[in-house]
Amino acid sequence: MNGKATENGTPTTAAAGAAASAKDAGAAAKPLSVTMARRQRVRRALLLAALLLFPVTLNYMSPYISIDGAMAGVVSGSLLLFGAQFLTALVLGRAWCGWLCPIGGLSETARAVNDRPVKRRPLAMSRYAVFSVWATVLVLGFVLAGGVRGVDPFRLTERYISVDEPMKYITYYLVLALMGGLTLGLGRRGACHSVCWMAPFMTAGYRVGRLLGLPQLRIRSEAERCTDCGTCDRKCPMSLPVNAMRREGAVRSSDCILCGECVDGCPQRTLRYGFERRR
Ligand code: SF4
Ligand code: SF4
Repeated sequence: MNGKATENGTPTTAAAGAAASAKDAGAAAKPLSVTMARRQRVRRALLLAALLLFPVTLNYMSPYISIDGAMAGVVSGSLLLFGAQFLTALVLGRAWCGWLCPIGGLSETARAVNDRPVKRRPLAMSRYAVFSVWATVLVLGFVLAGGVRGVDPFRLTERYISVDEPMKYITYYLVLALMGGLTLGLGRRGACHSVCWMAPFMTAGYRVGRLLGLPQLRIRSEAERCTDCGTCDRKCPMSLPVNAMRREGAVRSSDCILCGECVDGCPQRTLRYGFERRR
């Protein structure tokens, strides 16, 4: 009898109770969904702000300036940022990419034009090829300069603002055209997958943190509620097989940018943020 209507169509006490709990759950879910939608609005606003500030911050992420500094034995602002990205990734993985990166802001805007998922593996090989060449030149620069002689966070950024004269807009627009073009051509976060020089620092941080058994922020799953609808796969800006990974209890991937799109998009509220040590 539990959960069924009587012959005259009147719900049983159990059925009425279930209906009431469903109503209560619905009432409880409403503010939750508002909170979740707000989280994504906040995230997108942060990414947009990062993109708008890119003319100011460009040099502090520049792979060129870190090499220029290395040739003089100087640790530049961009190299300091890459070091900070490695350290934060020990615990927070690639949250930078999901919440604060200007190229992330550009990529999420480009989803309005091309939202095709990408094939991650071949693009990752391209990213590591780009990174290997850059890292080799960087190390050689320090070796030829006789080691590290100093630190200058504002190298080639005398006025603290990266694009502080008309000629520098050329570099700025070239970077935007390269990263935007790759993303529009390849699909979701195509530039992040294929050429981003910062991602390998965070990938390395994530892997070292995992090896050390540090608590790491992950997307975790309560499997019993999942209906295998696949919404999380469709939402993921990094083209990850979220549903397959959550079946193992959590998304354990150095490509997860902790954006929470899957958490906030899941109709069953199956996914959540949580810390996890390596299993
Ligand atoms: S969106 Fe939620 S219910 Fe749908 S497959 Fe993913 S985890 Fe399961
Ligand atoms: S798995 Fe979830 S949190 Fe990670 S990148 Fe994909 S949508 Fe974002």
